[in-house]
Amino acid sequence: MPASSPSSSTPSKPLSAPQKAMRKMGLVRDIDLALHIPLRYEDETHIVKLRDAREGDAIQIEATVQSSEVQLRPRRQLLVTVDDGTDTCVLRFFSFYPAQQKALAVGQVIRARGEIRGGFLGLTMMHPSFKAATGVLPAVLTPVYPTSAGLPQAYLRRAVAGALARADLSESLPPALAWPAAPKGQQIQSLRQALTYLHHPAPDVSIAALEDRSHPAWQRLKAEELLAQQLSQHMAKLERNSLRAPALQHRQGAWHDQLRDALPFQLTAAQQRVGLEIAQDLARPVPMHRLLQGDVGAGKTVVAALAAMLAIDAGWQCALMAPTEILAQQHFAKLVAWLAPLGVRVAWLTGSQKKKERTDMLALIESGEAALVVGTHAVIQEQVKFKKLALAIIDEQHRFGVAQRLALRDKMQDADMEPHLLMMTATPIPRTLAMSYYADLEVSVIDELPPGRTPVVTKVISDSRREEVIGRIGAQLAEGRQVYWVCPLIEESEALDLTNATATHEELSAVLPGVSVGLLHSRMSVQEKRDVMAQFTQGAMGVLVSTTVIEVGVDVPNASLMVIEHAERFGLSQLHQLRGRVGRGAAASACVLLYGTPDGGRLSETARERLRAMVDTNDGFEIARRDLEIRGPGEFLGARQSGAALLRFADLATDEHLLEWARHMAPLLLAKYPDLAERHIARWLGGKSEFLKA
Ligand code: ADP
Ligand code: MG
Repeated sequence: MPASSPSSSTPSKPLSAPQKAMRKMGLVRDIDLALHIPLRYEDETHIVKLRDAREGDAIQIEATVQSSEVQLRPRRQLLVTVDDGTDTCVLRFFSFYPAQQKALAVGQVIRARGEIRGGFLGLTMMHPSFKAATGVLPAVLTPVYPTSAGLPQAYLRRAVAGALARADLSESLPPALAWPAAPKGQQIQSLRQALTYLHHPAPDVSIAALEDRSHPAWQRLKAEELLAQQLSQHMAKLERNSLRAPALQHRQGAWHDQLRDALPFQLTAAQQRVGLEIAQDLARPVPMHRLLQGDVGAGKTVVAALAAMLAIDAGWQCALMAPTEILAQQHFAKLVAWLAPLGVRVAWLTGSQKKKERTDMLALIESGEAALVVGTHAVIQEQVKFKKLALAIIDEQHRFGVAQRLALRDKMQDADMEPHLLMMTATPIPRTLAMSYYADLEVSVIDELPPGRTPVVTKVISDSRREEVIGRIGAQLAEGRQVYWVCPLIEESEALDLTNATATHEELSAVLPGVSVGLLHSRMSVQEKRDVMAQFTQGAMGVLVSTTVIEVGVDVPNASLMVIEHAERFGLSQLHQLRGRVGRGAAASACVLLYGTPDGGRLSETARERLRAMVDTNDGFEIARRDLEIRGPGEFLGARQSGAALLRFADLATDEHLLEWARHMAPLLLAKYPDLAERHIARWLGGKSEFLKA
């Protein structure tokens, strides 16, 4: 990373406290500071006469201190009366330093800024900011920057101003290529102009346009940012295309075909289509980098299994990694059931494994005897050595970090080759997100559920009707069905979380005599969890009370009712995932969203609306869209955000046109002006773009 600032490249000198604070905030290079945009602005360009001040105005006055006294009742405060020749005003401070008191001594002429309040005792300002009235008034608005402890605003202002003057802000686009057009007459000429404007806007600017980021200077900044993101993703893709991977050709009549023909069901058209997309990628000598997206229950596992068989048929190994032990266990059970009859050896790896079993598994993997390896994070541990890994499959990919995905890729023995990578997710990714954060991936979508599923009916019910709901459990059990009861995660306290689930477990056990009610929570040992899950899967257990550990992947087709307690505390996508655990068989299924209100009052309107969205639709895409609106992109990106720095300026909800522009421009720039492209990426992403390759 080029350090363009002389002040930042002197490692021998110890850093001052503000410098350290800046470093922590990532403000290292001049360009970092130049891109540190104000939170808001203060108008110090005008002096308003007290006579003309209206209540509620945020104004600056210039006045002489007439009296200054510390009052002790009703609470300690400093009262300073100032006079500007047109009226007087009382400045009120509840906390103050001696130095401030001195600066506000009688006779001092000061400039004070704050909100003016009227009232019985005349004009007042609470805690105004102030300084001695020296020098001319500034010609531009004063920036107020996001800052942190130990980094005074004044220090940061000077640092940014200096960096802005020094920074290399040369244009990233040659004259032949154009930035997106701004409204007529408002065109911003250059990045330097845009940044100068954002740091020091003229006082006549439309504050609204600055605040809602619609001002042309903002548009330019956002276009620059999106261009950097698109460029780096595009480069990652090109780089990957220059790497080699084993070409896995389909072999007629081999295990892949045998598995397909032995399945107890017909693949849906969507499964066949994505299967083909994957097969085509695998057949090329270039590493696949594909995201398989499909709503809960869409049948991603079998698609993954078929992809694995293509690799195995070609004489290679495949690894399948899942984020939780329960999920990995389920995959393992299912895959063994499918593959053992064909004679394919499947190995199993988790952190909780007995030493002996583990050693055996490691040997099977290293010798290549195990063609398929299923497990949790244990799969990427150092001791795990594959004989010849060709395909890595990651289920629920958003639950894994970038580093973990990289580690899996590094399991390839041949240093010149990369394994193919298939990532799976049940969280649909809205279009704008796919276009931005996932632009470097190929995406396959299973947009159809297997036939014969009856849509889950969702009901929103107050916790005060709990008994009625428990009655419904009895009815389901009487029909031989099974029931999930989900307790919410209490974020502040894992212990409380547990108490909650335990109490519910006791309650249900008491009111449902003769029914086997199980309990599953995160504090249980792996073995305990496994036993409970096995009992539920085999139908020996009627009701499973659980915290959200069952969120992903659990597949028990006989379960037909899910009750989610305190549903208002969950995100929509999470509720959708949970709901996807029922309705997997042919029986009509229901999901009851119980909501509680702490004081027995009504649920807030937004909470009500969110739960209503769950009743309205079973479409994961629609739910994801609403969730994106409500909660922003963090939820979808999971660990990915740590690598591909979240967009700081652009907003996918309002800036789709800029995103489209950047998507169109990035390949052009990269092809014709690679140096400009590279400099632009370095400027915006510094060292971070490495991560995008994951
Ligand atoms: P997900 O996409 O959520 O991971 P799964 O792979 O767990 O879904 O599949 C859900 C259930 O549907 C499983 O029991 C699976 O065996 C079954 N299934 C998958 N594909 C089909 C199909 N084409 N027809 C019928 N059932 C299917
Ligand atoms: Mg799954």
